Amino acid sequence: MALETEQFRLELERAIEQQLGVIESVSRRFAFPLRQRHAKEYVADGLALVGDAAHTIHPLAGQGANLGYGDVSALMGELGRAKELALSPADQTVLARYQRRRKGENLAMMAAMEGAMAFQKGLGAVHALSHPLGALPGLSLHHGTLNAVLLPAVLRFNRAAIGGKWDHLAVLLGGAPDETIDQLNRDIGLPVTLSAMGVNEAQLPGIARAALKDHCHATNPRTASEGDYLALLREAL
Ligand SMILES: Cc1cc2nc3c(=O)[nH]c(=O)nc-3n(C[C@H](O)[C@H](O)[C@H](O)COP(=O)(O)OP(=O)(O)OC[C@H]3O[C@@H](n4cnc5c(N)ncnc54)[C@H](O)[C@@H]3O)c2cc1C
Repeated sequence: MALETEQFRLELERAIEQQLGVIESVSRRFAFPLRQRHAKEYVADGLALVGDAAHTIHPLAGQGANLGYGDVSALMGELGRAKELALSPADQTVLARYQRRRKGENLAMMAAMEGAMAFQKGLGAVHALSHPLGALPGLSLHHGTLNAVLLPAVLRFNRAAIGGKWDHLAVLLGGAPDETIDQLNRDIGLPVTLSAMGVNEAQLPGIARAALKDHCHATNPRTASEGDYLALLREAL
């Protein structure tokens, strides 16, 4: 948000992977935090909350308005039923039925959204590389093992871009992060190179190209080029 307009324009283009082509104009910028919130109760005396008044979720999968429509539909259904039964629309049994119908679905979607964010947030170069490696035909490489094998090289690559986190990690791990992870891999009997997993040099250029297109590429703390990915793969080979 603090960037100069032109720099912001370029960063925005990069962040959305130029899906909209060239961004030509940047108007005044506003920011607000995206927060997950959920009302403990949707209903009270003569009151029913619907939509974002009852719950807000991350717009990751564009589900917020849909949940709100679901609330409105359920509430209308319950009010219609109340009318048929000659009950007041404010009757607590009517409102409680509305709440019961909606809370479970809304909470399930909220939990799914949090899970999806945990999986997509900042996975960076390790996953940008392990996704195409895992898709190599005929090898069926294990995703977690690939991540473990790639991690030391990616840590070294990111070191210059992560500030004090490297030293903090070193304190927590009791040694240089890249060496400690490498040793851990050996200690628990994982393969420590890609070649030990059956990957060969000829496959690396295609993997480096594919990593650039992976959705995790954009979240690496240090922007990696195709050449950087190739170097990382060779280091891990
Ligand atoms: C960046 C972003 C992207 C999103 N993308 C999607 C998407 O792709 N698909 C999807 O389904 N959902 C999406 N959502 C969520 C969706 O926008 C909301 O869930 C939806 O707008 C909620 O509708 P609502 O009517 O409950 O609340 P709102 O849209 O917030 O409407 C509430 C209205 O009440 C007004 N108001 C507030 N206080 C008062 C007051 N005291 N007196 C009078 N009026 C008042 C407000 O000005 C506002 O107009 C996105 C949300 C964000 C932030």
